[in-house]
Amino acid sequence: MSLVTMSEVLKESIEKKYAVGAFDTMDRVFTEAILDAAEQKGVPVILMVMPMSVEGPEAERFMGYVVKRCRESSVPVALHLDHSPTYEHCVKAIHLGCTSVMFDGSSLPYEENVAITKKVIDVAHACGVTVEAEIGHVAGHEGNMLDGNVADESAFTTVEEAKRFYEDTGVDCLAVAIGTVHGVYKGTPHLDLERLQEIRDALPIPIVIHGGSGLVEKDYKGMVAHGANKINFFTAMSLEAAAAVRKLLAEKEKLGLQDITIVGQKAAEEVVAKHIEIFGTQPLSC
Ligand SMILES: [Zn+2]
Repeated sequence: MSLVTMSEVLKESIEKKYAVGAFDTMDRVFTEAILDAAEQKGVPVILMVMPMSVEGPEAERFMGYVVKRCRESSVPVALHLDHSPTYEHCVKAIHLGCTSVMFDGSSLPYEENVAITKKVIDVAHACGVTVEAEIGHVAGHEGNMLDGNVADESAFTTVEEAKRFYEDTGVDCLAVAIGTVHGVYKGTPHLDLERLQEIRDALPIPIVIHGGSGLVEKDYKGMVAHGANKINFFTAMSLEAAAAVRKLLAEKEKLGLQDITIVGQKAAEEVVAKHIEIFGTQPLSC
């Protein structure tokens, strides 16, 4: 039914105060788990592919399958490139069918981040594609996903820089750093919800939170209440699927690969469905 842009998927999220889950896939198992969960809940979803999925000889085959699956979905799906390190990856993703791209220039000097983001926006908007960028820096993307990460308060997004970045680029949605980390948390996360609310009040566009894994229900609901509209989520889904497979292997001796895949996919689907509910995602009204 619908492969749509991220702007379309998020268009009612600010006014109705909910977030849409954005889940990473790199294969068929995650893709089916994520889309099955959204279809079961009857709500829009954001399916994210990694830069590695849009480069190399396998890219056309994998993206061809993903685009077809999104088009056949019974719910609106935005197909989004997560954390693109370059302008070229964004162009490649658009060429392969993504309806949304993130250019991550959060570790670059401000002016460079603005310049490349604007270049991405020019080509993306010409193709009817949504653009996400990041200001401030969400820790932990540089590897070490499973060993634990701590948020760096000095890299939290300030309201002034979020506002300035939006005015300088005209970006469609903005990822901000308010205390979440990529991967697993080392210690207890401390989210700066007051800062999130101030950014929400200062910007007219959807706000994105990266590093959604490892928080508790109260944290997610707090972020949604204070203005989060897209929540990125991967590590916990992957770890719970692995735990389900480990349990199956411990319980049963005679197993085929298909038994393992089914159990892993089912566990991932349950995690996605549960978080869609926590994020309060609603069906689009039209
Ligand atoms: Zn991220």
